[in-house]
Amino acid sequence: MTDRCNFACLFCMPEKDKISWIPQEEILEFEEIERITRVLASLGIEKVRVTGGEPLLRRDIEGLVGKVTKIKGIHSVDMTTNGWFLESKARALREAGLRGVTVSLHSLRRDRFSAISGADALPRVLRGIEKALEVGLSPVKVNSVAIRGYNDDEILDLVGYARDRRISIRFIEFMPLDGLGIWNTGRVMSGKEILGAVSEKYPIDAKGRGSGETSSLWKFEDGKGDLGLITPMSDPFCDDCDRVRLTADGKLLSCLFDTEYHDLGHIIRNGGSDEKLAKFILDAVWKKPEGVGYMPWIKDGWEKPRNMNAIGG
Ligand code: SAM
Repeated sequence: MTDRCNFACLFCMPEKDKISWIPQEEILEFEEIERITRVLASLGIEKVRVTGGEPLLRRDIEGLVGKVTKIKGIHSVDMTTNGWFLESKARALREAGLRGVTVSLHSLRRDRFSAISGADALPRVLRGIEKALEVGLSPVKVNSVAIRGYNDDEILDLVGYARDRRISIRFIEFMPLDGLGIWNTGRVMSGKEILGAVSEKYPIDAKGRGSGETSSLWKFEDGKGDLGLITPMSDPFCDDCDRVRLTADGKLLSCLFDTEYHDLGHIIRNGGSDEKLAKFILDAVWKKPEGVGYMPWIKDGWEKPRNMNAIGG
């Protein structure tokens, strides 16, 4: 959607003076995104998640949501956001047909939230979550990246926050896609550790991982919300992953860790037909790398091609 973000989360973006944004003229227009989505839908894609960067930075994003929800074959459109503009945008998004929203929330302490995200935004983000619930976006979920030494002592507080609102909380293992280069294995809190901490306090039942889903689910026995663990580092789910990503500048990625960028923007901006686009997409998907779990370069100090904000997390 965009690689721009008004936050600078330390597990995602580089230092402010080292950011190089994708040039504006390379960013796909809404009509281009709509066209590519239509071709993807013709190939069997049913679910769309709008992310970035910060998707709510794009003017009239609700207009795009409205168009994408109407594409034949698309069953749901959801969004991942940092929540900054959610209070003001939630109703328009809902009216445009957005199904649910996932809000990133890595701390419930105002000073720590600022330190992690680079923005003194906690009260505003929390108001955004309340608004999303009020207008009926569903599901409303909270995403937290658990990083040892940063927020690992807040797992139970974050779970408590989500349970009080009967919403889902997802913990994502820290992946080596950060712009600051602070990732190391010692900083990764594994899903297993998180599960251990949560299950010591709350009785929970394993619900497994749905086909093609990224998170393994646990239901709290008292029915108050659920816990999801996204474990690309400790327990990758590559064999079952059927997602593709479209970057803001029109590159298709068949994996977050893909090093080959399949340029759809080039095709549509040079008169390529929908048939040509569809064939190119299929070829790209066949080239999907074997999987992060088997990729030795992850362990060997890998030079990632892009930071998370430019991939679309
Ligand atoms: N700006 C929006 C947001 O903050 O949610 C959407 C984009 S953000 C890249 C999407 C998700 O990726 C967020 O939940 C974020 O926490 C997660 N993320 C970013 N960098 C990550 C990393 N290095 N490892 C794991 N998750 C990461």
